[in-house]
Amino acid sequence: MIRLNRAAQVRKTVNPEETHRRSAPVPEMRIVVVGGGAIGSAVALFTKALGGAAVEVDVVEPDPGLVLASSARSASSIRQQFSNPINIQMSRFGHAFITGAADTLAVDGQVPDIGLVSSGYLFLAHEAGAPVLQALHAVQRAQAVQVDLLTPQALAQRLPWLRCDDLALASLGLAGEGWFDGYALARALAAKARALGARWQRARVAGFERGGARRVAAQLDDGRRLPADAFVNAAGPWAAGVAALAGIRLPVHARRRTVFAFDSPLRLPRTPLVADCSGVWFRSEGHGYIGGWTPGEHDADPDDLPLDEPDLEQFDARVWPALAHRVPAFEALRMRRAWAGYYEVHPLDHNAIIGPHPALANLVFANGFSGHGLQHAPAAGRGVAEWLLHGAYRSLDLGPLGWQRVLDQQPFVEQAVI
Ligand SMILES: Cc1cc2nc3c(=O)[nH]c(=O)nc-3n(C[C@H](O)[C@H](O)[C@H](O)COP(=O)(O)OP(=O)(O)OC[C@H]3O[C@@H](n4cnc5c(N)ncnc54)[C@H](O)[C@@H]3O)c2cc1C
Repeated sequence: MIRLNRAAQVRKTVNPEETHRRSAPVPEMRIVVVGGGAIGSAVALFTKALGGAAVEVDVVEPDPGLVLASSARSASSIRQQFSNPINIQMSRFGHAFITGAADTLAVDGQVPDIGLVSSGYLFLAHEAGAPVLQALHAVQRAQAVQVDLLTPQALAQRLPWLRCDDLALASLGLAGEGWFDGYALARALAAKARALGARWQRARVAGFERGGARRVAAQLDDGRRLPADAFVNAAGPWAAGVAALAGIRLPVHARRRTVFAFDSPLRLPRTPLVADCSGVWFRSEGHGYIGGWTPGEHDADPDDLPLDEPDLEQFDARVWPALAHRVPAFEALRMRRAWAGYYEVHPLDHNAIIGPHPALANLVFANGFSGHGLQHAPAAGRGVAEWLLHGAYRSLDLGPLGWQRVLDQQPFVEQAVI
């Protein structure tokens, strides 16, 4: 028996075309994907890779430059430090996929640069939060995540620029974490899907045509009609509106998150992605930094429209004071620019809703990623493709992320939300 080396094994697992060569034949079908951000593009890529010529895929996307899409406004970071094993497994696949993207997403010799920077997340806790970090640590170690719990003393030695005297515990990722160019990933997924035969339609889905208990065609806002066997809702923050077109109430809310880019006259060595106890996060970005604020459960977090307006008041009120407290050098920082985008929040449990609705089996959802959708795009795309083609998950079982727990109001919780 020939043994593959580790790099070749990773390539074989994440390469959609390899997977296709190994999978059983699939029936002929037509799929319409609503939305061409990272999730819709990953669905299109894996569906074509696994289904080959038997499957026709149309991606309907009104904004070809993804100007408003979350995938272009994201902080594009990836971590293993989740509380729910399914999220760890999805991120692990995402990390392997992004690491191998130069190979697997190259088209006609054009190699995409996803710009993966390897760097850990650092979760900080006061006394009250320390047991939570310890509990998460146990889950993560059981999943073989490389992560260390650090005392404030050990942390202060490692990161002398960080204020640690009010901390009780910290959790630092040692592998499989970092950040990347989310826009480049979304574009590369789309380019590869196109190279495999998926078609992009520049339009908006404005309705679905009914045929008995199923939907049989998508109606586009330019008057065209796209018949299909199955439809995928990959409309990100707009997903609830698309679900409503099919008569389904999707409890996913578009909630504004502002990202602030800033410089510090006192340059620090590259920082991890620090998730502070205040709800503020920051990390290095090029020669400067980016950061933002995650509202807590009790903070007002209304659905906000329109998208383009960053919440600049938040910087002075929330972000800067917390940054300057945690990193004294940031007292003198300069905010350079800010942008806003929508999280697609599923407030029940801060986990995605993936799979068909029980009342409408040929509309498949991939929505509500609640701030971790970019890193989970490859795993979600692969899972949805498996479901569409085989009626079952073949690699990672995404069943627990399905609709049933939503309809039963039984949360499948992710605690580590940023
Ligand atoms: C500020 C910010 C920071 C983030 N940080 C991270 C992070 O660090 N790590 C991480 O993993 N994730 C992060 N996320 C989340 C991540 O970016 C999203 O979960 C992910 O990009 C969602 O991808 P999507 O394809 O579902 O949605 P989008 O990228 O928004 O794509 C949806 C597409 O659907 C299209 N559409 C809408 N309505 C219709 C219609 N009727 N017909 C056809 N098309 C339609 C839209 O034009 C849009 O292009 C962040 C998000 C934001 C906003």
